[in-house]
Amino acid sequence: MVAPLTRKRKRVWEKTNGRCFFCGKKLYLEKRYGPQTIEYKRMTIDHLIPRARGGSDQYFNLVPSCFSCNHRKGARVSSMKNYVVGFAYSEDLKNILLIRKNRPPWQKGLLNGVEGKIKEKSNTPQIFDEIPLTAMKRECKEETGLHLIWNMGGHMSGVNEDESVFQCWIFYAYDDRIYDFQQIEDEVLELFPMDKVPLDQVIPNLHYLIPFGIHRTSSHYYNKRDAFITITY
Ligand SMILES: [Zn+2]
Repeated sequence: MVAPLTRKRKRVWEKTNGRCFFCGKKLYLEKRYGPQTIEYKRMTIDHLIPRARGGSDQYFNLVPSCFSCNHRKGARVSSMKNYVVGFAYSEDLKNILLIRKNRPPWQKGLLNGVEGKIKEKSNTPQIFDEIPLTAMKRECKEETGLHLIWNMGGHMSGVNEDESVFQCWIFYAYDDRIYDFQQIEDEVLELFPMDKVPLDQVIPNLHYLIPFGIHRTSSHYYNKRDAFITITY
């Protein structure tokens, strides 16, 4: 028995180009005949934050999953990490403000946008204490001293190397106040001309997150290296 194909199922399936969010196996949406039926697994929809813990039915909380991963997922959810990241450009799009990271270890020495964790209620982890936009404004103020106008650009979800699940809301700002940033924390802020961003020193997703903020030509990105990451707005 195959669940009926709905618009929502198709959109969720497209988040990962039709692969299981957790293990990467190819999933199928519709009943198929022939050899594909054997190698492709049927898609189930998984709530990243389970409904029992306040997770919503909205698109950002849904990922395609195979049956076995959907069943095994419980432990991973407790280690779900929720972030915001923001990329601030000058109004003429010629410069961008980035941060040279000291932590976590895998980002040490690399460049990233302004980023941080979304505050969660202390007694109920996974229930947000602020909306992502509020988190973005707060992180930016704390790290750069700047009040910028942030626009939501996307949502990204994936599986870390330690198998924990993360999701991240992506923001963009276009504001000449970036030239007045203050160095507040230990991680060094750096302004780069767009054509001088050292692409060998950025965290991998920035290869498409930075151009996306300028061109906005595509509504969907699929990164082969991080197979389960998409930008979907
Ligand atoms: Zn799977």
